[in-house]
Amino acid sequence: MMNSTIKNIADQSLQNKPIGRDDASYLMNIDSDEIYDMFYWANRIRLKYFGNCVSTCSIMSAKQGLCTEDCSFCSQSARYHTSTNVFPLVDPDRILNVAKSAEQTGSGSIGIVTSGYRINSSCELADISRAIKSIAENTCIHPHGSFGILTRETAQYLAKSGLKRINHNLETSERYFPHVCSTHTFVERVSTIRIAKEAGLEVCSGAIFGMGEETEDRIDLLFTLKHLDVDVIPLNFLCPIPGTPLEDTALLTPLEVLKIISVCRFVLPDKEIKIAGGREKNLRDLQSWMFYAGASSTMIGNYLTTEGRGIENDLQMIKDLKLELKRS
Ligand code: SF4
Repeated sequence: MMNSTIKNIADQSLQNKPIGRDDASYLMNIDSDEIYDMFYWANRIRLKYFGNCVSTCSIMSAKQGLCTEDCSFCSQSARYHTSTNVFPLVDPDRILNVAKSAEQTGSGSIGIVTSGYRINSSCELADISRAIKSIAENTCIHPHGSFGILTRETAQYLAKSGLKRINHNLETSERYFPHVCSTHTFVERVSTIRIAKEAGLEVCSGAIFGMGEETEDRIDLLFTLKHLDVDVIPLNFLCPIPGTPLEDTALLTPLEVLKIISVCRFVLPDKEIKIAGGREKNLRDLQSWMFYAGASSTMIGNYLTTEGRGIENDLQMIKDLKLELKRS
């Protein structure tokens, strides 16, 4: 028999009425076969708001390494000794070529990602702007980007260049943030999200799970994202990288990952939930379950400094599930 509490919470989400923290806590603490009831309802909620369509996106690392920050999960901090390649901002023409390849493989967008606290110079900003303009003019996919902390002026300049969406993850809850980064604050990250919204940019903001945070941190984070009314929530799952402080952290279990996806769907029923980095290692054979657990989108291809599985495998998975790939 189906768990009636989960059904009652799902009814709220199906009517797009906010569920309470207690409800999210109840769901996050399910640790029995009832987890499958939660997946069932998360899938029903996804179907209500997104139908049979799922979307995909790709990212490219356009500037890598030598970062002044100390995010403990990241191989690009100059403080850690990792095997990640280091390179300066790549040429705008090369960014355009990557965008064209992403378009051909079915991605709806290309995210240009640069390492660092913020865009370093007016020269870098001008090159990023040129890349954004040429993607907007020469492809049918949307230019998105992730450029660290933004000032008002930078956000407005990027928006005028044709940038559609900014990615700026909160990474974790406000309480846990100082455990993963000491060189900037959670408040600065929230402020960048607000600045981006004011500049008319769509905001993609999520987190990395599995960094040692508590269940309550996960719930706090989801409600912060709801409060900020972000457009897309990318869910990353830690892939411990040798040389970083989190290198010995254990992976999450596949069911734990699916549970986080489902609770996110209940809390943010009508928002795009995108499964991003760490999917392959943390979900293993259960990758195709991410949609049944409530995800409506996934990143395909390689991540910033780690490899994804082949794009053709992901496109085949979507086809086998009889889901429709939403094109931009
Ligand atoms: S996550 Fe971004 S800000 Fe933090 S160390 Fe990596 S590149 Fe730097």
